[in-house]
Amino acid sequence: MWIRRRLDIGWTDIAWGCSRCLLPGALEENARHRLESAWAGESDAVACLSVRTGFDLLLRALALPPGSEVLMSALNVPGMFRIVEAQGLVVVPLDLNPNLSPATEVVRAAITPRSRAIVVAHLFGARADLTPIRSLAREHGLVLVEDRAQAFDGLPAAAPEGSDAALYSFGTIKTATAFGGAMLTVRDPVLAERIRSLERALPPQTRWEYLARLLKYAGAKVLTGQRTYTTLCKAFDRAGADADAWLQRAAAGFRADGLLDAIRHRPATPNLALMERRIQRFDPARAKHQRQRGGRLAASMGHEFPVAGDPITHTFDLFPLRLGNPRAVQAALREAGFDATMRGSMTTAPCSNENPTATANAERLLDEILFLPLYPAMPDEELSRMASVVHESGEPPLAEKPWQ
Ligand SMILES: *Cc1c(COP(=O)(O)O)cnc(C)c1O
Repeated sequence: MWIRRRLDIGWTDIAWGCSRCLLPGALEENARHRLESAWAGESDAVACLSVRTGFDLLLRALALPPGSEVLMSALNVPGMFRIVEAQGLVVVPLDLNPNLSPATEVVRAAITPRSRAIVVAHLFGARADLTPIRSLAREHGLVLVEDRAQAFDGLPAAAPEGSDAALYSFGTIKTATAFGGAMLTVRDPVLAERIRSLERALPPQTRWEYLARLLKYAGAKVLTGQRTYTTLCKAFDRAGADADAWLQRAAAGFRADGLLDAIRHRPATPNLALMERRIQRFDPARAKHQRQRGGRLAASMGHEFPVAGDPITHTFDLFPLRLGNPRAVQAALREAGFDATMRGSMTTAPCSNENPTATANAERLLDEILFLPLYPAMPDEELSRMASVVHESGEPPLAEKPWQ
């Protein structure tokens, strides 16, 4: 069984991380300095425990008046919306097109005198089109934040021109994972300094806590290995249990209750060191390679099977295929040994009573998209086989519904 996604880290890196926990020596300041200066060159970078930690710090540092509106891509992990609400701010969803970007008109219509910030998420490896959004943000004096948690594709990872901040995750299920950790890039040095001092005031994660994390996910890596996972799936099937739900729960990371307490920590020194190692050793050709493979897979399926996002800039963190009947194709793929999945850990933004349909398109996307596995370990022949299973599933092409 080709699992939906692999933990993107090798045993050497895990062992190296464990050794840093057991044989401390590096000073926190040094590890942090090395990581932050390797990261972004000219922009100010702050290493954090997670993207959610960095986002929370950023909002606290901005100190927006209560009731301020934060415009956000309508799809994200639940914690990102909750962090905004926990600070007394209002989430205003920006509904998405099938290219996974909010339309310019949608953004324009969402701006009110209370708007203060826009958060655009680059989803599933696709790159949202920011050009029109940047001019709107400038015109209305809004802080533009890019959620690049799923979009790390190598150094240099400075915040792109025209954005105020960008967030990158090295969490468990992300590319080049360090089983935790994130980088926040901030353009304004004054804001960066404020974030840094708030970050310094957080209680630290101890190296023992980080070691426990490394060991826990090393265990998960064993269970999700090719052979073991196949056996596990069969066992779950026989027991009538749902391996899917089990995996989703296991990957959830921080518990939903007490989210703020969980994220408001500083990363342990070995976590900073492993993050640095992962980004320094990241193969710069990998994103290009993945883009080519995704492009070939899309082409081999044909026009009637559209991919969510722009295939030209996509790095296919997963392969998001839009289908009329994704459940049927999911069953066919499973039968053939491909663990395709739906929805993942994403949710739609909370809607206000005045605008209950503000996330209608995003909901529709979640119902349509089947995420096919696509990672470096899958050989080209298997990708072709996966494409034929989709083709031969006999599912009619997606009935294109009108998108307003
Ligand atoms: C994973 C993810 C996050 C959260 O990242 P953490 O580092 O786990 O907090 C935020 N946004 C998106 C789009 C993500 O995929």
